[in-house]
Amino acid sequence: MGRPCGRSILNDIGDEVNQSLLHLYELQKVDSKLDELVESRGELPERVHEMRHGLDEQQDQLGQVRLDIADLDVRTKQLSDETVDLREKVERYKAQQFDVKTTREYDAITFQLEDGQRRLHNNVENITRMGIELEGFRTDEQQMAQDLSEMQHELAEAETALSEVLADTEEEEKRLLAKRGELVKQIQGFHMTIYNRVRPAKAGIAVVAIKNGVCSGCYNAIPRQLAMELRKGDKHTVCEYCGRIVVGEPLAIAVDGEPQPVASEVESGEAEE
Ligand SMILES: [Zn+2]
Repeated sequence: MGRPCGRSILNDIGDEVNQSLLHLYELQKVDSKLDELVESRGELPERVHEMRHGLDEQQDQLGQVRLDIADLDVRTKQLSDETVDLREKVERYKAQQFDVKTTREYDAITFQLEDGQRRLHNNVENITRMGIELEGFRTDEQQMAQDLSEMQHELAEAETALSEVLADTEEEEKRLLAKRGELVKQIQGFHMTIYNRVRPAKAGIAVVAIKNGVCSGCYNAIPRQLAMELRKGDKHTVCEYCGRIVVGEPLAIAVDGEPQPVASEVESGEAEE
């Protein structure tokens, strides 16, 4: 609505194909701004994503170590209880050795005593081994909990930085995306198909204007006859060198406005900032 200049040229250009091209050229500008905007956010969004993932993994691992510790604690407790019982039994057998009447009874008690002593010895060894294991787990747990809290701290900082970066660009992104949605509705399917195919392959630039007879995407000359037709503003071509869609200058001017002298553009740009 607020582009009387663009609209009048658009009316001159006329037919549907050219209106579609005009919107395609405008879409390219919007997408380039969106690309710049995403790039201005740098690696922070990706980094925050990775940090969140790393934090989840660390939490899982810490949870697992805590389960292992609890399990080992229970088993140690069981063995300790058993050891108390075994000690009592061994003492009892020792006492009984003195009360036996026959060699047979003596042998039987001795057998039970030795069995009890062996089991007691094994238990004590196992408890010692598990104690060492438990100590290792506890050291791991402490280190992991400390790492986790550092990671949480770093993530919180990165998230704050990210939300600041996003706040600067979010409104602009919304505006551009809304505009993009409107433009796409007005572009013919075959134009979108070429656009979507070429853009990822050509550093994000799929539509360019012809300038001084060359494709402004790759600076190769456009054949003279085509260039003349483009100059009339009622045709587009696909650059035979880079594959980009090339539109005529009248169409580009309808979107960009008349080219301004370079010096005054720079001055006004600086004054605004
Ligand atoms: Zn080209």
